[in-house]
Amino acid sequence: RQVRGALFTWVRPETQKDPELLAVSPAAMRDLGLALSEAETEEFKETVAGNKIQGWDSKTLSGPGYPWAQCYGGYQFGDWAGQLGDGRAISLFEATNPHTGVRYEVQLKGAGITPYSRFADGKAVLRSSIREFVVSEALHALGIPSTRALAISLLPHSQVRRERIEPGAIVVRFAQSWLRFGTFDLLRARHDRANLRLLATYVAEDVFGGWETLPGRLDDPGDPSKTPDPQRGIPKDEIQGPAGAEENRFARLYREIARRNALTVGKWQAYGFMNGVLNTDNTSILGLSLDFGPFAFMDNFDPSYTPNHDDHFLRYSYRTQPSAIYWNLVRLGEDLAELFGAGPDVDSPTFIDKGVSKEAEAGVIARAEKIIEQTGEEFKSVFLAEYKRCMTQRLGLRTQKPTDFDELMSPLLDTMQELELDFHLFFRRLSALRLSAVSTPEDRLAHANRFFHGEEAVTEAGKQRVAEWLARWRERVVADWGTLEDWGSNSSGGGAVSDAADAERMAAMKRVNPNFVPRGWILDEVIQRVEKGGEREVLKRAMHLALHPFEDSWAGREFDGVVYEGDKEEEARW
Ligand code: AMP
Ligand code: MG
Ligand code: MG
Repeated sequence: RQVRGALFTWVRPETQKDPELLAVSPAAMRDLGLALSEAETEEFKETVAGNKIQGWDSKTLSGPGYPWAQCYGGYQFGDWAGQLGDGRAISLFEATNPHTGVRYEVQLKGAGITPYSRFADGKAVLRSSIREFVVSEALHALGIPSTRALAISLLPHSQVRRERIEPGAIVVRFAQSWLRFGTFDLLRARHDRANLRLLATYVAEDVFGGWETLPGRLDDPGDPSKTPDPQRGIPKDEIQGPAGAEENRFARLYREIARRNALTVGKWQAYGFMNGVLNTDNTSILGLSLDFGPFAFMDNFDPSYTPNHDDHFLRYSYRTQPSAIYWNLVRLGEDLAELFGAGPDVDSPTFIDKGVSKEAEAGVIARAEKIIEQTGEEFKSVFLAEYKRCMTQRLGLRTQKPTDFDELMSPLLDTMQELELDFHLFFRRLSALRLSAVSTPEDRLAHANRFFHGEEAVTEAGKQRVAEWLARWRERVVADWGTLEDWGSNSSGGGAVSDAADAERMAAMKRVNPNFVPRGWILDEVIQRVEKGGEREVLKRAMHLALHPFEDSWAGREFDGVVYEGDKEEEARW
């Protein structure tokens, strides 16, 4: 249904027979302000399956809330796709965690059709639901902004027709906002200027928490007391903002959206995460990783990899993710152009108003173009700064040198690509490598083995190449972590790092280089075992690893006050 003049429709989830709550995310329970024991209640189980509507009395048909689905549009693979909207997501309510004051919009995915379902069924299959459930929480645990997942329920009586008949499921997910670039795109496409202004005002005042919390420029770290946002904080001197920009509050909003997305893409690239479908309807105004379809984490490093088999032109491959988001940002800039082109007085007439002089019209356009261009430049520098910051940490360095990118990071990625090395294993294994074990060329050659997976992949030339890179890396680590006294204390030359400092370096690396990422084949195994094997605990174990990705081991350890049983064989394999 085409919905005009509004951005949502009230909708009721379908009633589900015998839903089975498969798992919850303990971290999500905590972040919503819920005790873990609450997941055991009948009320929780009925709520997460869409059978009970919180705050709605079905006898009197009254209450403070009623579920809704959002209306939005989007550019898909570069083309305007018209109205889309939540075709299988239904928002239940907004909830504020009483401890943190953070407000979330909680929604069901797969709870039935909405006016935006178009020709589809409004359902989600168990397979894709397990993938979304695990990856949302895994990204969050890695420190990458993402929409979250609270619970997953199996619908035992549902049969969903895809390539084959599959069981259906519902995921409960939440985010501080589900608004996307496509929400703005739709209003522009419809020339709905009044609602565009209203939406932009709502996002800045309500979602971002007030104009005063929006930094004037991207290089302004803002007031930390007003913006309790852990993603803030790129050192000021790393980002050159434009000088003397004459901006209004809508320009600041645009810059803030750009900045958040730049930070997120920087982390995606540093952690080898690929969304696979970066259309504007899947690009969050908060810079959250959003909409998990054919996503993947990088296995063997291959920059032209895309997990999306329909993406024949590699629009959304690993390498092209930053430019895809940049492209989306330009569309958003065009959506907001009239608002930020108005100049310092946001209520002054714009060129769309009748009777505006030619000069005034040209002024609006020129200002808008300049802001879009400057914001694009800032997006690039913030993205690059964040990417380098993450990679610096992943390499075990405390400081950055301008030469690191060309002399250390690029050669490493080229080596990984050429030798088909595993992206995540490489960093984790580097984290466990003592510097004293690689001080001579012979030692480095001997230790190069550990970066290959499988003996058959190891070649002499490959080992030599890894060993050479290790020499560069070692030299940099020594310069970064070594003290003056350490220099010269090692007769093999080239300086050294004390054992204590090296232990600190290894511990710091393990805190940023995950020992677990939900790779495609691991998720496939979990799905198979839940769906065909009727197993349940395996899903909880996968979620547990996803929530604690930096540990050396999990089984038998205590997390969040509970001893985690685990499965040693599985952990070793995953
Ligand atoms: P996506 O490719 O996941 O971003 O989806 C594009 C649009 O199709 C969105 O508006 C979705 O809500 C909608 N959609 C995808 N799958 C379904 C489904 N099974 N039922 C209803 N709508 C769907
Ligand atoms: Mg989508
Ligand atoms: Mg989707």
